[in-house]
Amino acid sequence: MEERKQLLIVLPGREDEAQRLAADLRVVDGGIDVRVGPEVGDPEYVEMVVASGHPQGFLASFPNLRLVASFGAGVEHLVGAPDLPEDVGIVRTVDSALAHGMAEYVVTAIADWRRGTKGYRHDQELGRWRPRGYAFSSTVVLLGMGRMGLAVDQALGAVGHRVIGWSRSGRSLDGVECVAGRKVLGEVLSEADVVVCLLPLTPDTEGILGCEFFSVMKEGSLLVNVGRGAHMIEDDLIAALDVGRPGHAVLDVFREEPLPASHPFWKNSAITITPHVAALTDPRGAAECIAENWHRLQAGEPLLDLVDRERGY
Ligand code: NDP
Repeated sequence: MEERKQLLIVLPGREDEAQRLAADLRVVDGGIDVRVGPEVGDPEYVEMVVASGHPQGFLASFPNLRLVASFGAGVEHLVGAPDLPEDVGIVRTVDSALAHGMAEYVVTAIADWRRGTKGYRHDQELGRWRPRGYAFSSTVVLLGMGRMGLAVDQALGAVGHRVIGWSRSGRSLDGVECVAGRKVLGEVLSEADVVVCLLPLTPDTEGILGCEFFSVMKEGSLLVNVGRGAHMIEDDLIAALDVGRPGHAVLDVFREEPLPASHPFWKNSAITITPHVAALTDPRGAAECIAENWHRLQAGEPLLDLVDRERGY
C-alpha cells in the first residue's frame, strides 16, 4: 500500500484553483500521487486531503486519512467537524505571500484613512489642489499576534507606528508590546487610534467585536476586521459608528459572504468594504507548504502550522 498513498485536493466550486494547485504540487514534487476531487478513485489510498468548502460527512469516507490541510489560514470549518476522527491532524496552509498580502492590506487601509485618500480622489475629479496634514504616528492594537499579526506588526513598525499586540497567551515577542486578558484589552483599546482584528474564529472570539468592545474604543478611531465575519456583531457596529466609536470601519470579512445586496453596510459611508481579499493564497507557495507537510507526515516529523484542536486554532 506504501506506493499507493494519495494526496487528494477537494475545493468544490473552485475546480480551476484545485487543478492549478495540483499542477503546482506536481512541479514542486513529482513523487507525490496527487488527485483532484470529485474523482476520488479508491478512498482507501487517500492519506492527506487538502480541503475547503467540502460537504459535511465527506472526510469520513477515507478510512486511512491521517492529515487534512485547510486551503487558506482559517480552520473553523474543520475544528470540531463531526466527520473528522480525533486522530486525524489538521494543518493550515500559510505561505509567505498570505502574510505579505495581509500586511500590505492593513498598512494600506490605515494609510488611506489617516491621509484621507478618498478626499484626494474627489479633489482630483474637481481639479482642486488641497493639501491636508495627517497625524505623524498612530497607536495600533493588533488583536491576534499569530502568523498574520506578526507580519502586520513588522510592516506597521517599518512605517513608524506604535503597535500593541493582544493575544491569548500574551507571549512576549522581541520589540513588541504584548498584552493578554479581557481587562487589559479595555485599557489598550482606549489608547488605540486603530484596532485590527486578526483573531481566529473560536467560541472565545466569536462576537468579540460587539457593543461592549466598541464602547471603550477611542472616538474617531479606525476598526479593521480581516479575521472572520462572525467576530462582529453587525448591528452593534452600525450603532457604534453612529456615535463615532469607531469613526470608520474597514471590513473584509462578513457573517454572510457574499455580502447580500440589501445589507445596510453597503450604503454606510463610515464603512469601507472589500470582498474577502485581504490576503490570497498563492498556489505555488501553498504547494510548497503542502508538499513539506506531506513529507513530514511520511517521516513522522513535526508538522508545520499544526492546529491544536482543543484550543480551536
Ligand atoms: P494564528 O493561529 O497564527 O494566530 C492567532 C492569534 O490569535 C494568536 O496570537 C493567538 O494567541 C490569538 N488568539 C487566539 N484566541 C485568542 C483569544 N481568545 N484571545 C486573545 N487572542 C487570541 O492565526 P493567523 O494569524 O494565521 O490568522 C488570523 C486570522 O486571519 C484568522 O481568522 C484567519 O482566518 C484570518 N485570515 C483572513 C484572511 C483574509 O483574507 N481576510 C487571510 C488570512 C487569514 P497566542 O499567540 O497566545 O496563541
